[in-house]
Amino acid sequence: MKPLFLAPVPRDVLTLSLVPPAAPPGTMHLAIRGVSKTYSNGARALRDVTLDIPRGMYGLLGPNGAGKSTLMRTIATLQEPDTGSITLGDVDVVREKERVRRTLGYLPQELGVYPGASAERLLDHFAVLEGFADRAGRRRVVEALLRQTTLWDVRRERLGGYSGGMRQRFGITVALLGNPRLIIVDEPTAGLDPAERVRFLNLLSEIGEQAVVILSTHIVEDVAELCSRMAIIDRGEIQLEAEPLAAIAALRGRVWRRFVAKAEFPDVERSHPVICTKLQSGCTLVHVYAESSPGPGFEPAEPGLEEVYFSVMAGHQGARAAAALPEAA
Ligand code: ADP
Repeated sequence: MKPLFLAPVPRDVLTLSLVPPAAPPGTMHLAIRGVSKTYSNGARALRDVTLDIPRGMYGLLGPNGAGKSTLMRTIATLQEPDTGSITLGDVDVVREKERVRRTLGYLPQELGVYPGASAERLLDHFAVLEGFADRAGRRRVVEALLRQTTLWDVRRERLGGYSGGMRQRFGITVALLGNPRLIIVDEPTAGLDPAERVRFLNLLSEIGEQAVVILSTHIVEDVAELCSRMAIIDRGEIQLEAEPLAAIAALRGRVWRRFVAKAEFPDVERSHPVICTKLQSGCTLVHVYAESSPGPGFEPAEPGLEEVYFSVMAGHQGARAAAALPEAA
């Protein structure tokens, strides 16, 4: 399993990393069934989570505290659920941790690096641990990965001097060693500037063609730009599982907008199911959910994934049901 910068890689993981992936890419599919987790302090982090995650980029979207990291860590075999099962192809993720780790690349939220080492040296070191014994072959792999993640030109610089985006790309470089079939990326764009974010997302989308890639994030645009499927999670429960484009299409004709003065807003909020508000030139632009025109002054609004997310989070059952309909595609 990679990357594990903060802790030494366990021996059993290293040994088993030498074995080829458990299943060919075409058959790879992650099935999560009835997974629940309550921490010892009483926090119910996951409640009966059931999801099917195919090959490609999959977005797990939810606010802070929703349970995303708990689910990511559970899939990455770093903790166990109280109940439920997870399978990756024919591998039982909860019981056969070593088999999962052979084919897993995990980029955690907090990435620790050795600040004094260069990307090239550290990657070479991880490649040795990963089982690339032949020096020339290892060099080729290291070069190819550093070029893919556009770190080749800065490969000899200290990791301690890298920007946040460069560090994230280095994390992905290490995660990609050994050609993983399951890649878990937890909140990767938090703290990146816009240019770094775009670069990182482009890199992820390239990777997403070959593996199951789960991207956990609270940033709606990350999912909108990248993912062919997604789930929205809140308070440990899956609120929606859908294709982003289909969910947006299903909301078309059901989102209305109106500019309101600050003083009017409480009234509007009381009488309409408000999805979200945006400030524009000192006025509040209100988006509401309604099957037909909610009244004078409202005009139809073109929905995006943000409207899907906020209407589901606001608990508008109509929006949730519409967005989840398969025929909406
Ligand atoms: P997210 O990644 O969506 O922010 P988390 O999975 O980190 O959500 O947290 C879900 C819930 O579980 C929160 O209420 C959080 O406080 C709690 N939680 C997370 N990790 C622990 C832990 N190690 N011990 C106790 N409670 C935890």
